[in-house]
Amino acid sequence: MKKLLEDSLNKLSIEYDEEKLSKLERFYELTVEKNKVMNLTAITEPEEFVIKHFADSLAILNFISFTPGMRAADLGTGGGFPGIPLAVFHPEVNFLLIDSVNKKLNFISEVAAELGINNVETLHGRAEDIGHMEEHREKYDYVFSRAVSNMSSLSELALGLVRVNGIFVAYKSENSSEEVKTAARAIQLMGGIVDSEKTIILPNSDIKRNFFFIKKSNTTPKKYPRKAGEPTRRPL
Ligand code: SAH
Repeated sequence: MKKLLEDSLNKLSIEYDEEKLSKLERFYELTVEKNKVMNLTAITEPEEFVIKHFADSLAILNFISFTPGMRAADLGTGGGFPGIPLAVFHPEVNFLLIDSVNKKLNFISEVAAELGINNVETLHGRAEDIGHMEEHREKYDYVFSRAVSNMSSLSELALGLVRVNGIFVAYKSENSSEEVKTAARAIQLMGGIVDSEKTIILPNSDIKRNFFFIKKSNTTPKKYPRKAGEPTRRPL
C-alpha cells in the first residue's frame, strides 16, 4: 500500500512525511478490521482503497487553501471520508465530522485517539438539526461532503453550516453538471452561488472526480434547512 500511496501523492503534488503515511496505513488497517463487524466501506482491497478513498479525499488540496485555526466540517463522513485524510494532512485546521449514524462516529473517535489525530471532533446528528444550532450555524470556513445526497438536497444540508464567504465543496462524479444546474435554485435560496468546478482524474486510475465549489455569498434565511427528511423528500 505504501508505494502506491506515495506514488499517488506525488502525482497529486501533495507533500507528505512518514508520519502522515503511517497514519493513513493504520487507518486502513483499522477500517478493514472494523468492517468485519459493521458496514464502513465496500472497498477493502489496499490498492483500491488508496485510489478511491485516500487519493480521492486528498485531491481537493490542490484547489483550496487552509490557514491555521480554520474550521472545516465533513457532512455525512461515514467511515471518515474525506474528513480523516484531510485532518491528517492539515493538523492546523479543526475538523468536525458529522454523521447521523453514531456507531460510525464511535469508530472515528477510536481511530483519532489511536492515531493521535487531535484536530478532529465528531458530532452525531442530522445536518437539518445541526444547521440550526448556534455553535454550528454559519461557522465553517469549509464544508466538505462526499456521496451523501443529490446537489439540491445537499446544498440545503450543507450551506447552513458555511459562514458567509466560506465555501461548500461537493465531491461529485463526472456528468453531474445537470444535477448541479437543477440545484441552482436551492443553492441561491440558501445564500450560495456556484463559484467554480474542477475535474481531476484520480492517479493510477481512469476515475474522474468533479469538485463543485459553492461560495456562500449571503446569510441563509432562518427557515433553512427545513426539518429532518424534508431536504431529501422535497428538494427546493
Ligand atoms: N462521506 C462518506 C460516506 C458516504 S455515505 C464517503 O464518501 O465514504 C453517506 C453518509 O451520510 C452516511 O454515513 C449517512 O449516515 C450520512 N448522512 C446522510 N444524510 C445525513 C444527514 N441528513 N445528516 C447527517 N448525516 C447524514
